[in-house]
Amino acid sequence: MLGDIKGNLDAVTDLQKKNGNSEEYLAKNPITQINSHAIDQLHPLQEHVSYPKWIAFDLDDTLHDFKHASQTAINHVFKLIQYDNPNIQTNELQSAYQKICKSLVTPFVDGRQSHEYRMERFSLLLDTLHLSKDPLASYIDGYEYSFNQAITPYEGAIELLSALNNKTQIAVISEGPHDAQERTLDTAKMKPYVKALITSNRERVSKKDGLFQRFMEQENLKPEDLLVIGDSLESDILPSNKLGIKSILFDPNRKHQNGAPQIRAEHLSQILSVIEKIVDFDK
Ligand SMILES: [Mg+2]
Repeated sequence: MLGDIKGNLDAVTDLQKKNGNSEEYLAKNPITQINSHAIDQLHPLQEHVSYPKWIAFDLDDTLHDFKHASQTAINHVFKLIQYDNPNIQTNELQSAYQKICKSLVTPFVDGRQSHEYRMERFSLLLDTLHLSKDPLASYIDGYEYSFNQAITPYEGAIELLSALNNKTQIAVISEGPHDAQERTLDTAKMKPYVKALITSNRERVSKKDGLFQRFMEQENLKPEDLLVIGDSLESDILPSNKLGIKSILFDPNRKHQNGAPQIRAEHLSQILSVIEKIVDFDK
């Protein structure tokens, strides 16, 4: 099995050579499978690796478990609502809230604050179920408090940021309300490592529509000056590859194993060795 992977890596390297530099290659061929666990076993860490000027991480479900925090927070709000309205059932709340969230899917590009988005959602929820909106502010506070309590950095996240901090500059590029993402970085104790937080909310543009490009313009970067790491094919990997930026798909739940293979890692502890492999493609 390791032989197959080594063969796969050699084939990728040959293709890279044939196709010119890796940015052009990745732009043309974003589909490249590397099993990072096997790389750990095959290749010791390189001593002289020139890191890109910036490494940009996605935040939610890449550096911390957003799904867990948001689920915990909304369950807390449901309990508060049920305390005020003992006859309302959990499944009624869940189903109404899910519908509202679906109808409001947004990369948060209209510049509002996080509590305004929450107010909109909770207000619609209470209206839909014909419940009193008097306690709305306390539900929003309850959500924020519970969300912050439940923020959990992924295993290895702080160690990874700390190690990279000595080698490059770290940005977080996120589709979310700027104030909420700032608080998350603070609560997760990641802020000291993050030199720039760029959000769709503040820049008023989604990742698909040019957020990575906006950051490159702000910092005067070429594609090879930046590496993107994120958990979404659609929002992190494809938009950055389109610009010729190398990227690593973080896929802890192996969601994308049966789809198009990518340069990827299943655990944050594998990221350093994957980075060293892909920057070495240029040498
Ligand atoms: Mg994400």
